[in-house]
Amino acid sequence: MARKGHKYIFVIGGVMSGVGKGIASSSMGLVLQAKGFSVNLVKVDPYLNVDAGTMNPTEHGEVFVLDSGLETDQDMGNYERFLNRDLGAEDYMTGGMIYQTVINRERALGYGGKCVEAIPDVRNEIQQRYESASNVNESEISVIEIGGTVGDFQNALFIDAARVMKMRHPDDITFVMVSYLPVPGSLGEMKTRPTQNAVRQLNAYGVHPDFLIARSKYPVDEKRKRKIAIACSMRTDHVVSAPDIESIYDVPLNFEKDKLADALTDALKLPSKKNTDLSEWRKFVRAIKRKNSIDIDIAIVGKYFDTGDFVLSDAYLSVIEAIKFSATVAHATPHIHWVNAKDIEHGDVEEVLSKYDGIIVPGGFGESGIEGKIKAVEYARVNKIPYFGLCYGMQLLVIEYARNVAKLDGAHTAEIDKKTKHPIVAIMESQKENLEQDKYGGSMRLGAYPANLKKGTLAYGAYKNEQISERHRHRYEINPKYVEQLEKSGMVFSGTSPDGVLMEIAELPKKVHPFMLGTQFHPELKARPLSPHPLFTAFLKATVVHKKNT
Ligand code: GLN
Repeated sequence: MARKGHKYIFVIGGVMSGVGKGIASSSMGLVLQAKGFSVNLVKVDPYLNVDAGTMNPTEHGEVFVLDSGLETDQDMGNYERFLNRDLGAEDYMTGGMIYQTVINRERALGYGGKCVEAIPDVRNEIQQRYESASNVNESEISVIEIGGTVGDFQNALFIDAARVMKMRHPDDITFVMVSYLPVPGSLGEMKTRPTQNAVRQLNAYGVHPDFLIARSKYPVDEKRKRKIAIACSMRTDHVVSAPDIESIYDVPLNFEKDKLADALTDALKLPSKKNTDLSEWRKFVRAIKRKNSIDIDIAIVGKYFDTGDFVLSDAYLSVIEAIKFSATVAHATPHIHWVNAKDIEHGDVEEVLSKYDGIIVPGGFGESGIEGKIKAVEYARVNKIPYFGLCYGMQLLVIEYARNVAKLDGAHTAEIDKKTKHPIVAIMESQKENLEQDKYGGSMRLGAYPANLKKGTLAYGAYKNEQISERHRHRYEINPKYVEQLEKSGMVFSGTSPDGVLMEIAELPKKVHPFMLGTQFHPELKARPLSPHPLFTAFLKATVVHKKNT
């Protein structure tokens, strides 16, 4: 059972998907937190995948890994970035997870011989998860975003579980619909009808939204607010205008202008707390929009860039945001350029890469474009261009060094070449079994692990700490058998697992290269607006120096 007096805000989409429910939920979380409430944000993904780990990032956006190791949707990244805190495994659920639990329970005779049904058994499991998320977090308010749009077949049980909770605890639950108001080009006029219909559709579920966040190209005027309010039996001041804006980080500030946090807490019959304090956030938003005198051009070299219809900015969302946050500290205006590794593989590396002030090779899997990425690493190393390798990008940094400096001919990763003479990157023993048994889902080295840093290195200089904790998502590791030889050739493993067996950070000494560093973990997953990641900051500062010197 939920703790007594715990409050829930359910966020449901109307009209169509992709209008910013995740950002609206994150922003509601932030304005309530800024008022002094403890808040947890929960994402419900109705699909039947048990987690997001098996989904293609170019189609579904990046896989965001939590400390716990759970592979989740990119919205969880936004939630953590807005709230500036880690969220737990309870804060994410999928249809697959719910059904798996129910079916496992049935197999274990957990239903005592009864017929197991979507209603009430699956619905009860959903409700129980809504409640346990708030219990684990010990929060006062849970903002729960139900994925999809009203009318979807898949999310109906999730909405119904919320309805039952509202029926039992009417004062503790409020519903917010995030809807879309089109402005058809032929008319040039904002239309409210699709939204009115979406509200009616939700009404047919037995749920009435108390608030409407009206997403549109333009602000919603008072006349239309009144029209929606009357048509949808809603208070006019509960219709919140949410026009397209320059930066997603403006959304909480706009909500604050509309006093949304006060309206939500009133609706939930919460005692009023302090005035909303968004001063740090406001400072950050100002900094992120500032046009700095120095522009830096960063190449992200990857393989996914030629697969047709996709949104790259979603596939690498955390990397892009991490760059933006650190740019506020490095006082630079970053410009990100997507570089297809295959263009380097088959073309002139100098021609493709010479215009950039810094190069990133992000996380990745498989063979496609790999020799192009390795060429990019070599180009950065030889030409002393700041290089930052994230996971795969670190493994390739070490492979390039092994091949070209340590003279280990044919050095490779066992992921691509199982028979390589020099498996510089090898599979962990525990992972072998997983692959042999086709256990792919949720089986990588996942989540937060501690690492120790060596003093006097680039990594230590950035973190200013001997112990760190970072999030992982990989199957392969730097092969311990080659560590000594690589170190003799000049490579520095500046971060290792506490037992010294796993290499967590590889870098070159500053006297050899201004910034050549890669991490086996994904630092971008812990970069936050109010606490930019120290390694991204160090990388960007190096790119600024590089730019000034060229
Ligand atoms: N493919 C590599 C591995 O599995 C790197 C994974 C990644 O970049 N996330 O080890």
